[in-house]
Amino acid sequence: VSLTPKQKIDSVERQINECMRGDSKEIVCPYCKSSNVPENKALCCADMGLTVLAILRKDAQQECLRQAAVVFEAVDRMN
Ligand SMILES: [Zn+2]
Repeated sequence: VSLTPKQKIDSVERQINECMRGDSKEIVCPYCKSSNVPENKALCCADMGLTVLAILRKDAQQECLRQAAVVFEAVDRMN
């Protein structure tokens, strides 16, 4: 069974979340089927690198938006 590009990204995102929760210790690459563990200094392949970067960037943006909302709320309370 071959995954669509979207399913591959979803798969990586799910595995990253599992690692962050501590439920998993490895991310199996949907592109080259290698297993990525934290001890590895580099990711298995360029496709995986781009996907991880895109997912982390998305998370970072959401974190920025959350922090901005907190600041706006605090300012709101001061007025
Ligand atoms: Zn790979």
